Amino acid sequence: MPELPDISLYLDALRPRVVGRRLTRITIRSPALLRTFDPPTDAVEGRCVIAVERLGKRIVLALDGDYFLVIHLMIAGRLLWKPAGAKPTGKIDQAAFCFEPEFCGLNDGATLVLTEASKMKRASLHLIRGRDDFLALAPRGLEVLASMPADFATALTRENRTLKRAVTDPHTLDGIGNAYSDEILWAAGLSPITLTSRLTTDELSRLHAACRDTLTHWTRRLRADFGYEPESGAPTVAARFPGVGDITAFRPDFGVHGKFKKPCPRCGTKVARIVRAENEINYCPGCQTGGRVLADRSLSRLLKDDWPREAE
Ligand SMILES: [Zn+2]
Repeated sequence: MPELPDISLYLDALRPRVVGRRLTRITIRSPALLRTFDPPTDAVEGRCVIAVERLGKRIVLALDGDYFLVIHLMIAGRLLWKPAGAKPTGKIDQAAFCFEPEFCGLNDGATLVLTEASKMKRASLHLIRGRDDFLALAPRGLEVLASMPADFATALTRENRTLKRAVTDPHTLDGIGNAYSDEILWAAGLSPITLTSRLTTDELSRLHAACRDTLTHWTRRLRADFGYEPESGAPTVAARFPGVGDITAFRPDFGVHGKFKKPCPRCGTKVARIVRAENEINYCPGCQTGGRVLADRSLSRLLKDDWPREAE
């Protein structure tokens, strides 16, 4: 699922391309995508995009007349930037947003295509009128990058649960999902199953710093990779829109996420995992759990010998 650094990159890529530009047509191919019926989509056709915003893990196009198009990519949703007149024809194309072709900014296309390469169609589109209704759409977790240590500690320890759960809960922290939470907990040297009530003051401040450092590092890194100023996200001459496969939860330079059995770049211990339904938690036993490989009772029964007991 695209998380804060990925969503920030989409916002940076969208801003110079659509702000100030007229949205001429919305074509929706998947009926399940649009979750609202009033106002209808033709209410915004011909309206100008005045801002591109983020709401949690959602991407928002604010249009004149107090309209908001809210896109939630969920796990497999992605955005592509295509030439004027491009139609949503591919198997995975869910919707197309056509913009007026005349434009003096980054004139490398005019159609925003929403794709979803998964049988499970979970991505959503809401068309909302009025900022209050739009803000009510998503949980408002703490904005980690702008947060003070004390507010972070309060938010994180409000309920007693595992760190993995607390860090990825959108009601607690804003914009962090499965991939970056693995990276954050690894950077902080904390076990994903530590209970938030057991955290010391020192551990909480380490975790706060790890959240900020990890999210800032990857936001800057992705901006630089795609030709945007690392600090501001402003486009450079090399700015390009992320293409197929560019927004991914599996990056070669990640420390532990998606690195099962690979050596930890910090201590060399093989990265371990906990498999849960659709999710896999990755962690380094050397850096995070004092050398212990975590076993889940039902999982160890299920996996028998496949479930590692000792750090490899
Ligand atoms: Zn390690």
